[in-house]
Amino acid sequence: MDTETKMLKKPVYMDNHATTRVDSRVLDAMLPYFTEKFGNAASRNHSFGWEAEEAVSRSRDQIAALIGAKSKEIIFTSGATESDNLAIKGVVEFYKDKGNHIISCVTEHKAVLDSCRALERAGKATVTYLPVDKYGMVDPDAVRKAITDKTVLITIMWANNEIGTIHPIAEIGKIAKEKGIVFHTDAVQAIGKVPVDFEKAGVDLASITAHKIYGPKGIGALYVRSKGPRVRITPQMDGGGHERGMRSGTLNVPGIVGLGAACEIAGMEMPDEAQRLIQLRSQLQAGLFERLDEIYVNGHPTERLPGNLNVSFAYVEGESLLMGINDIAVSSGSACTSATLEPSYVIRALGIDDELAHSSIRFGLGRFNTLEEVDYVTDRVSREVKRLREMSPLYEMAKEGIDLKSVNWKS
Ligand SMILES: *Cc1c(COP(=O)(O)O)cnc(C)c1O
Repeated sequence: MDTETKMLKKPVYMDNHATTRVDSRVLDAMLPYFTEKFGNAASRNHSFGWEAEEAVSRSRDQIAALIGAKSKEIIFTSGATESDNLAIKGVVEFYKDKGNHIISCVTEHKAVLDSCRALERAGKATVTYLPVDKYGMVDPDAVRKAITDKTVLITIMWANNEIGTIHPIAEIGKIAKEKGIVFHTDAVQAIGKVPVDFEKAGVDLASITAHKIYGPKGIGALYVRSKGPRVRITPQMDGGGHERGMRSGTLNVPGIVGLGAACEIAGMEMPDEAQRLIQLRSQLQAGLFERLDEIYVNGHPTERLPGNLNVSFAYVEGESLLMGINDIAVSSGSACTSATLEPSYVIRALGIDDELAHSSIRFGLGRFNTLEEVDYVTDRVSREVKRLREMSPLYEMAKEGIDLKSVNWKS
């Protein structure tokens, strides 16, 4: 074994739901398209344009192969935020004569929630935000019951970016098909990690992005079903009519080549990679549980992304924990808003109390994480949790068997 894998390089990156490092194979595929092959894919009358167009077309094939789509169903965008906006606003606008009701879910990504809110504020849509169970999963029956004769769109993510829970997408797709309602899914965290097939799952629109699957930032796509039924959206940007009129703008050819390469690699390596990540995650989870009491896993026990481990460390502030382990890159369940530290709305939606929500940490394991890193993180995190708990009167009291809920704090 080479010595490099044994050497632990710091800081340790374990935040792969936020973004991923570009795979060197992806970078190699992209580089020529910045220099020698710099053509505009829309230039129809010379070889520079043809070369770029050919690369874009190859990328569409690579993406389509990973997600169960046809090449012409791939519409390139600047990333999943744009894809979510285009899908949701585009459907509501196009189908406005049919109705104005959207069904979504409380644990969706902000790109989905804020698109829905913008439509509500503008008076263009009403939205039902479905709750989730204690594992973060939406109930397909609840989707069915929420449908009205005004419903034009169901938007439910494939897998959650904080807790990794995988929704029963095929069941929801079946309901959507039965009722003739357009079904969008934010599939950012799922593609390349677990098998997805949009055609089979009855998905009509799906958002993806390169930088969560070891590709570059600023490039993504929207899958738009072309048949059974053909799905229509109103473009959100006016211009040269690129991407079959759905998204104008000169194509980001190097980025597109990167997204295609990232998809092809993900498709080839998914089975082995998923197994490896599940093993690393189990090791991390087991290690933490061995060393610490009063810790809880957030997310579904089995229907969860291979690289995701979200844990609440009771009696410890997630933010304090992060500060104590500053050579490890992970995320806390709290989001700094303007003035206050709000516990994550995703963790809150699981029905656990704010205290525990504040103590949650998301570990996001990815392609480049090693067993050595997992061991280091296990050790470092457990020590820091123990140190913080030693300073916590609450933890002391709990250990002495005092029911904290019965204490009258004001006296
Ligand atoms: C990262 C992420 C997005 C946003 O993607 P960008 O390409 O960064 O705009 C949307 N949805 C989910 C679930 C994500 O994890």
